Amino acid sequence: MKNVGSAIRAAELLVGHAPPTCGALQARLHRIADSYPELCQITQVGRSRSGAVMEMLCVKGGDHDVLIVGGPQPNEPIGFASILALAQYVTTNAEMQAEHSWHFFACSDPDGARLNEPWTTSWPPTMESYHRYFYRPARWHQPEWTFPASSFTGQLPETKALMAVIDEVRPELYVSLHNSDSGGAFLMSSHAETYLPNILQSAASSHRLPVEEAPLDCAGWASPGTGAFVLPAVAKETLESSASGPVCGSSSAHYAGQYGLALFLEVPMWHTRGITLPAGVGAEVLESAATTLDDVLQRSGPYAQDSVFLPAALDILTVLRLNADVLRQNAGAGTNQDRALLAPLRAAGMMLRHLESQPDHAPDLTAELTRTEKEFRAWCSRAEDTLHPVPIPLHDSAGFQIEVILRAAAALTGSPFLASR
Ligand SMILES: [Zn+2]
Repeated sequence: MKNVGSAIRAAELLVGHAPPTCGALQARLHRIADSYPELCQITQVGRSRSGAVMEMLCVKGGDHDVLIVGGPQPNEPIGFASILALAQYVTTNAEMQAEHSWHFFACSDPDGARLNEPWTTSWPPTMESYHRYFYRPARWHQPEWTFPASSFTGQLPETKALMAVIDEVRPELYVSLHNSDSGGAFLMSSHAETYLPNILQSAASSHRLPVEEAPLDCAGWASPGTGAFVLPAVAKETLESSASGPVCGSSSAHYAGQYGLALFLEVPMWHTRGITLPAGVGAEVLESAATTLDDVLQRSGPYAQDSVFLPAALDILTVLRLNADVLRQNAGAGTNQDRALLAPLRAAGMMLRHLESQPDHAPDLTAELTRTEKEFRAWCSRAEDTLHPVPIPLHDSAGFQIEVILRAAAALTGSPFLASR
């Protein structure tokens, strides 16, 4: 990459106005491969639990292998837009193939992504549309967090597909494209590379994004600089074991980190106002929401059947309580966290989808639906009135991801990776 700044500018111009769905992304990658058959190869790398085909586009080039993964959690669609723009750019610019080979793993949880399409296909989302149709699987059903760990062997078909790809590609740079709801941009890495904070800060400032200085998910982690955090060798989730064993494993970044630098890139969907919320008060809000929704489950249990949403709704109630513990135990990272206002909405949204999915709406079930819908609306108003969310243009959020990827890829080759845009 002769000039990383101009590459970033040109690749960003290819970002659309809305992220493609997982299916649309795979179709577009096929078209790219069809247009450049000598350069590209598209391969089926696995099938999801429901049988959906999982595909990867490889753009052959130099020795530095970069592997980029979209939709690591299915409520995180920004990366689909970044992948599409980058795939178009690196295929049509010979300079991008001189030193790097590019591997685009379209979507690591196609089934989960489909369950989020009621909100992802109407862009930009509102806080209400996002949370009302939100789906994020229970932790042991998340491909991203079911990689091997000591005493965790519950690898999902999607996880096995990505493991095989990582073992085959042996990426020098691996990037899993996460996105958050609010707050600032940050990254987690397998190794404490000292240049990462500079790359992160450059990409955040050129896309008008704040840098997240104390993300709750990284509380207590080592940091080579503002906004960059090093994944602990043992994933914290494996430590949050139930009596029957760990609820999930390590992450794709732990696994890919054995071959090179592995990154989780986090970028928010909304600009929001800062809030004043002591950690203890935030913890109470989370616990109170968990109790309210637990009661809904208890009362509706006798009338409701299992659904795809039920394990997810059950697990997020545990997560709300774990988040409350983290808030209480981390005076710094636990203060002024809007997670306390947003996580209850995720839980209420999935609870509503569980209740709605029931084939027979007995009167008691209808009453629970009405009651939960009312809670959801009240919590949503509380969050919107406090946070004043403004959608971040996709050009900025996906542009941020593109900039970090291209600068990190340039750093692999000794190019001047911080050259201005
Ligand atoms: Zn994520």
